[in-house]
Amino acid sequence: MRQIAIIGGGIAGLTVALRCSQRGERVSVFEAGAELGGQLRTERAGGYLIEHGAEGFVAGSEAVAALAMAAGIHDQLRGQLVRDSCHFDGQRLTRLPPGEAGKMLGFQVGSRALGRGIESFQAGMSQLVAALRAQLPAHAEVALGSPVAALAREAGGRWRLTLASGREHSSEAVVMATSASDVARLLEPVAGESAAALAAAQTLSSVTVSLAYPQAAVPHPLDATGFVVADGAQLEGFRACTFASSKLPGRAPPSHALLRAFFRPSGAELGLPDADWIQRAERCVARALGPLGPAERGWVSRWERALPVLDEAHRARVAALEAALAGSGIVLAGAAFHGVGIDGAVRSAEAAASALSPA
Ligand SMILES: Cc1cc2nc3c(=O)[nH]c(=O)nc-3n(C[C@H](O)[C@H](O)[C@H](O)COP(=O)(O)OP(=O)(O)OC[C@H]3O[C@@H](n4cnc5c(N)ncnc54)[C@H](O)[C@@H]3O)c2cc1C
Repeated sequence: MRQIAIIGGGIAGLTVALRCSQRGERVSVFEAGAELGGQLRTERAGGYLIEHGAEGFVAGSEAVAALAMAAGIHDQLRGQLVRDSCHFDGQRLTRLPPGEAGKMLGFQVGSRALGRGIESFQAGMSQLVAALRAQLPAHAEVALGSPVAALAREAGGRWRLTLASGREHSSEAVVMATSASDVARLLEPVAGESAAALAAAQTLSSVTVSLAYPQAAVPHPLDATGFVVADGAQLEGFRACTFASSKLPGRAPPSHALLRAFFRPSGAELGLPDADWIQRAERCVARALGPLGPAERGWVSRWERALPVLDEAHRARVAALEAALAGSGIVLAGAAFHGVGIDGAVRSAEAAASALSPA
């Protein structure tokens, strides 16, 4: 049985782990964080379902639907309840044609995908993560709190991973399902300049604030998916707001509303206390929806340098590194290299699993 090491336990790493296990290979997933899922993290609190990371994936994604089927939760897929989005110009909210909101937010997906909206799961995006984990065979290893610190070639062509704890692990193949900066650091000793070049990859940070209100306290019908803030009106880094409880089922208790405000923070702002972010979100949302008062509850999610910018220069650097790695048993997978969002990460992971398939 071939041994495959997977660095990163986000959706890409878990997809590769499932596919390789399904064909009888032995996988070890090394995840730096305390939980699997990476940028998929759902919390349940007081009847609310809060997405800290992605709220869903582009509707009609064949790759995610196939993965949900393999994970046994295809019947848990849920589509949007409303279709229209709005636009806030600093003064008024107006309706947008389908797809316009995604375009204005700069979503890097094809034009057909832009108008489709999103899908998620009844229990949120972490339901997919838990289902994938549950499908892995008993011999699969999932090591949490296990950042990989170094990678080196061993005699005989195998790869030796050294974890931050000092533990060593040997495998025939390695899947890098982490960030571009991690790949640059871990692969430079192996692939030289073509790996180091990935350190130039651009990323964006994001802060989202979920706010809970009694429905009666919201002076707007929330009869849309949310609103996008016009470029010139993006005060305090506020870019958009999702009406989470209008958009997808089961996101708030009856007679309550869940809103989610999206910010593009400057570096120093990421560290502001939760209370400051919640007040900022309350202020920004009220400018568009009318006086709301303080939220009953708020949740702040910080994502530092998490969103990759897949421009031409980055794609060229990834292609050069993959050419240098050809035949080595190391493959790249995930949104940092090929995909955009969950659909892109899953498709990239499926391609990585196929590339590792024994001839
Ligand atoms: C706020 C937010 C909202 C989003 N909304 C959407 C959305 O609505 N729709 C959509 O399609 N996409 C959305 N996305 C993007 C989507 O979530 C990601 O593209 C996707 O989840 C990336 O998956 P991944 O497995 O490629 O990477 P990640 O989820 O980033 O996983 C990489 C994993 O590698 C681990 N790791 C890093 N370094 C090491 C190391 N040295 N050793 C071991 N492990 C390591 C990390 O801890 C992480 O768990 C959103 C992202 C954010 C942050």
